[in-house]
Amino acid sequence: MKRICIVGAGFSGAVIARRLSECGYKCLVIDEREHPAGNCHTERDAESGVMVHKYGPHIFHTNDERVWNYINRFGEMMPYVNRVKATVKGQVYSMPINLHTINQFFGKCMSPAEAKAFIESQARMDITDPQTFEEQALRFVGDNIYQGFFAGYTRKQWGVDPSQLPASILKRLPLRFNYEDNYFNHPYQGMPRNGYTAIVENILGHENIELRLDCKYEDLTEEFEHIFYSGPLDRYFNYDLGRLGYRTLDFEPVHAEGDFQGTAVMNYPDSEIPFTRIAEHKHFAPWESDSFAKTIAFREYSRSCGPDDIPYYPIRLVAETELLEKYQTRAKQEKNVTFVGRLGTYQYLDMDVTIGRALDVAEAYLQMLINE
Ligand code: FAD
Ligand code: UDP
Repeated sequence: MKRICIVGAGFSGAVIARRLSECGYKCLVIDEREHPAGNCHTERDAESGVMVHKYGPHIFHTNDERVWNYINRFGEMMPYVNRVKATVKGQVYSMPINLHTINQFFGKCMSPAEAKAFIESQARMDITDPQTFEEQALRFVGDNIYQGFFAGYTRKQWGVDPSQLPASILKRLPLRFNYEDNYFNHPYQGMPRNGYTAIVENILGHENIELRLDCKYEDLTEEFEHIFYSGPLDRYFNYDLGRLGYRTLDFEPVHAEGDFQGTAVMNYPDSEIPFTRIAEHKHFAPWESDSFAKTIAFREYSRSCGPDDIPYYPIRLVAETELLEKYQTRAKQEKNVTFVGRLGTYQYLDMDVTIGRALDVAEAYLQMLINE
């Protein structure tokens, strides 16, 4: 049997390679970058010593016990709870929208029941089946909170009016009528003590896996039994039908002494501010943050992704959905290739979902081999 090729050394590729290699299959994992871990890559900043998430902040959270056990097998996860703040018109609020945010924003001191009734009085109850981001916001929080916290941020993040975006983007965020300010609802949450790259390296650390970095799929000449492809779907087909739309991010570093903003993530929803948020990475590692005299933070700017940029967020507007379907049809016709992951399936996938799906894809492939 020829080797199995896995394109991309992010979580998708690494998890599939590990499962197959443990079953005795020889795998070649390639990545065009000079490091594994894909967009979850972490490295120490030379100046401050802080562990930096090079392609944007990554917080691990899941309700999938299988995935939580899996990641803990390959590295130590430290306790971490994501508590996000937002600066709106010169005031600092707590995110996601909770009782503290509501009371502070409206200058009140309401109980949970009072706040619920108050927000319902602001909400557009006539919108019965919200389809767009804007409708979802107006239906559940009303125009004041929508304008304050969501409209500007979302326009900056996605480059289009929220009335053109699907409601699903906002559904990612909870709305709470108590003082719970954990950004996520999931029971398991944490940060890897030694960064994500160490975890992915451990996943890839198996005698049946060869990891080849600085290697583009397009340059491979060997023959393979099967290919798992976690690169961009449209790139696989040479962008024949056109490019799927992505947002890319620019990270502007800020070097400072001590503590820059006192928290890991500060959002900036105001339209007049060009960036969406500032992430100060030492605060993602509370167990070691006090040991650094210096700090590093990144202002995050979102813009349309050009041919030479890194694709971050799939946009999935109507035009993209139609193009996606055409590419998906071609992908299905491709023999011995399975498209996986965030780029290969053109979907916004969190790390836990990525790992869960990769485990399922590997299992399905093994099952297929047994049935053959
Ligand atoms: P990737 O990590 O993108 O890996 C794909 C790899 O394939 C890349 O390394 C790339 O170089 C390589 N590649 C592509 N094409 C080729 C080719 N032709 N030849 C060779 N190599 C190729 N998830 C969370 O759970 N929590 C978070 O807080 C979180 N924050 C995020 C913040 C941002 C800004 C973004 C964009 C995503 C965030 N995510 C978060 C999602 C997370 O990044 C993904 O779940 C994860 O990266 C998906 O892994 P993957 O292996 O599918 O893709
Ligand atoms: N969002 C917003 N204001 C905020 C935070 C989030 O409008 O202060 C919107 C924005 O459109 C974003 C979406 O809610 O894309 C989902 O937020 P999340 O924090 O999940 O975004 P991510 O971390 O994926 O960028």
